Amino acid sequence: MSRITHWINGKPWDGVVDRTGEVFDPATGALSGTVDFAGQSEVDAAVAAAATAFPAWRDASLAKRSNVLFKFRELLAARRGELAAIVTAEHGKVLDDAGGEVQRALEAVEFACGIPHLLKGGFSENVSTRVDVYSIQQPLGVVGVISPFNFPAMVPLWFVPNAIACGNTVVLKPSEKDPSASVFIAELWAEAGLPDGVLNVLHGDKVAVDGLLEHPTVKAISFVGSTPIARYVYETGTRHGKRVQALGGAKNHMVVLPDADLDLAADAAVSAGFGSAGERCMAISVVVAVDPVGDDLVAKIADRMAGLHIGDGRRTGCEMGPLVTRAHRDRVESYVDAGVESGATLAVDGRGHPVDGAAEGFWLGPTLFDNVTTGMSVYTDEIFGPVLSVVRVPSYDAAMDLVNGNPYGNGTAIFTNDGGAARRFQNEVEVGMVGVNVPIPVPVGYYSFGGWKDSLFGDTHAYGPHGIHFFTRSKVVTNRWLDPSHGGVNLGFPRNV
Ligand code: NAD
Repeated sequence: MSRITHWINGKPWDGVVDRTGEVFDPATGALSGTVDFAGQSEVDAAVAAAATAFPAWRDASLAKRSNVLFKFRELLAARRGELAAIVTAEHGKVLDDAGGEVQRALEAVEFACGIPHLLKGGFSENVSTRVDVYSIQQPLGVVGVISPFNFPAMVPLWFVPNAIACGNTVVLKPSEKDPSASVFIAELWAEAGLPDGVLNVLHGDKVAVDGLLEHPTVKAISFVGSTPIARYVYETGTRHGKRVQALGGAKNHMVVLPDADLDLAADAAVSAGFGSAGERCMAISVVVAVDPVGDDLVAKIADRMAGLHIGDGRRTGCEMGPLVTRAHRDRVESYVDAGVESGATLAVDGRGHPVDGAAEGFWLGPTLFDNVTTGMSVYTDEIFGPVLSVVRVPSYDAAMDLVNGNPYGNGTAIFTNDGGAARRFQNEVEVGMVGVNVPIPVPVGYYSFGGWKDSLFGDTHAYGPHGIHFFTRSKVVTNRWLDPSHGGVNLGFPRNV
């Protein structure tokens, strides 16, 4: 049993704690640790540490900041296996998948290593006679990052590298379900030479989140989680005068046109539907089969599902692990019951799938529903588990209406060999991230990640160039060095001559 505590001002918190949460190993069902929950005094301590560290970190040279980033990148790369193991132990995703998560986190760190280049402003000489104008980007101050359970290493690192590279100081509030990855990451930053207080980790629940949202010293919030909480965080944070980006949930559709290679499409649907047990915001949860591919496609998907190796993510050969908690497993399973009750065709029932792991683990095998319609809860709700729905439609236009009619707009994909159809799809679809024959189109680290509609509140996406924009505010300086010819009072609006 481990005790996981806050990381404040460069060291573990040693204060008195009155509330804790439980952390489980999802593959065994065993309680593996407790995590301290922050109250208002811990929120205040973390924010105060970040505020104290801010002036010196803001003034640290770009050379110094990028040096710390490069060192952190090397440490993270060298110790990626340990971090992946921590993710698997508390989240349950298989080790190889956890390694992929760390790899994508590294991309975001590598982008931020280029901070000297990314913070270059503009300069215009002689905008008026002997007057120059230039722009500079400055940090905001103390910023909060609030992350979900499903990517305990990657999502914090979508934000933290850019935030600190820009000269901000950070209070990170990771998910209470798998909090250890954030502590490991904070220790690596300290080892890389990040000064005390620049990154703080605060554990907890709504109390910690509300404390950050309402704290007058916190200037901005980056949030990732479910749509109801994202909306709440956006509304509460902006009401308290903060800059907020809040990324929410998803219901990602994969459209399969009649000309597509159905074997490749079935491979993609299974990989993107059941990887990480469907607990990815970019998971495919709806396959849109355009007539007449439905029967063949469902048969091919079902065939592949039968061979999936479900079990403890530390065991060789396991492709899909357990769900994160018992409560979440039960909730997902209730959607399988609801799908049957609402009349969907249960093509594959995951409840009977064999498991290579301890009986007490939070298991649920992959489930496939066919003939799903838009009124069923398996279609309307984000299930966030290994449940894939097939909706059959008569045409491309009907597929587009379905995707665009859905309130979420995180990711989508089209499978086709028709370049014209693919081009039309990427132009017409109201979704932030689009794959053409790519089922999980997570942008590389030098683009930015974000959905549309109910999948993102705010106007700035995560990491990449949007991240630099979010974590800085710009200032424009109009500059002239006086000489006698500039004398004389003039009440007119300044005009350029
Ligand atoms: P969640 O919304 O339950 O929790 C996210 C964070 O909010 C956690 O840190 C949690 O402690 C906090 N929180 C929970 N309830 C709260 C409340 N009532 N008030 C204030 N804070 C609260 O999400 P989750 O279950 O941890 O993660 C899964 C969700 O995240 C899914 O909906 C998934 O689609 C989404 N997600 C989205 C993206 C994206 O980029 N759009 C990426 C990953 C996950």
